Amino acid sequence: MAFFKGSLKRVEILSKLSLFLIAMALSVFLILLSDNFMEDIPHWFKKPIRKEFQDKPQLDKINGEMIPIGKKLKKADEKVSNLSISLNIANRKYQSEKKSFETWLKARRTIGSPNEDSKVRDRGKQLDSLRVIEDAWQAKIDAVKKEQKGLVAHQRSLVSKRSRTRAKGNEKYQTAYRTFSIKIFFVRLAIILPIMILAFILLAKFKASKFKPLIWGFTIYAIYAFFFGLVPYLPSFGGYIRYAIGVLLTLSIGYYVIKRLTVFTARKKAELEESREGRLKKIKHGTAIKAYNSHSCPSCERDFLSNKWLPKSKKLQTVVLEDEAPSFCHHCGLQIFDTCAKCNHRNFIHFPYCSSCGETLNA
Ligand SMILES: [Zn+2]
Ligand SMILES: [Zn+2]
Repeated sequence: MAFFKGSLKRVEILSKLSLFLIAMALSVFLILLSDNFMEDIPHWFKKPIRKEFQDKPQLDKINGEMIPIGKKLKKADEKVSNLSISLNIANRKYQSEKKSFETWLKARRTIGSPNEDSKVRDRGKQLDSLRVIEDAWQAKIDAVKKEQKGLVAHQRSLVSKRSRTRAKGNEKYQTAYRTFSIKIFFVRLAIILPIMILAFILLAKFKASKFKPLIWGFTIYAIYAFFFGLVPYLPSFGGYIRYAIGVLLTLSIGYYVIKRLTVFTARKKAELEESREGRLKKIKHGTAIKAYNSHSCPSCERDFLSNKWLPKSKKLQTVVLEDEAPSFCHHCGLQIFDTCAKCNHRNFIHFPYCSSCGETLNA
């Protein structure tokens, strides 16, 4: 559709503006109303709470088992450090005794007193007893460490059992949450789908209705409801559904637009192929006024004055009188001006009456 600059009267502009405002106002109020309503939907169902899906008695049991183990481990640590001190002392005693024994032995060899075998034996025994003490401490430490090892293994198995229990609970929660979201989505779908269908029917059935602005307002609301009330709540399944819907929408809208464009071009072509007389009769009064005011051909919509109207600069330099305007459109051959049969005055023949004598123009 061509836009005829300067051809719309002020009233026409105002009425278009007010109709537009009516459509916008209706859609805005519908959007606000439905937003309010939609916000309440999640409250219709119990939203799953993560905590409630955990096996609490089991977790409590595990935690309960872990407390004494922790305590025992702490105690064992203390025991080991205490025993280590004793072991150190015993070791030091043994080492110093050993050193003194060796020195004594050396001295004895130099001096040479072979009758003192029993003394050697005694000292050797004493050294051995110190070694036994040290070994006893070490054995105690080893025992505690063994106990510790067992405790740590038990603790580890409890920790992994606890995380397994938690993971199971989380899984249950995820499933419940998915069900919840799907429920919400279907409720929204149940509300929004009829709205969209209704908008579609209204648009198709009342194309030419004078209440079109109201239908448009409702349609804008339906589009909003689809994109903001439904699409964000689509169950995602890794984005598949969203993208699939995008593809489907593009396909259907693309199909519709291409079909309409083809029909429109074909119609325009057919129009121009029609005989000049046939076209002449089809031109409506409104189109004729717009065409006259903007000096465009009412059929092919091109400027029939272009060469005279805009000589070199883009400014209007000479007013072209009707007498100077061409009688036929030099683009499509449609007749534009003709003389009145009664008074011979030259008229724009798409107007119904002669502007000089009022005679009916036989267009
Ligand atoms: Zn033309
Ligand atoms: Zn006349």
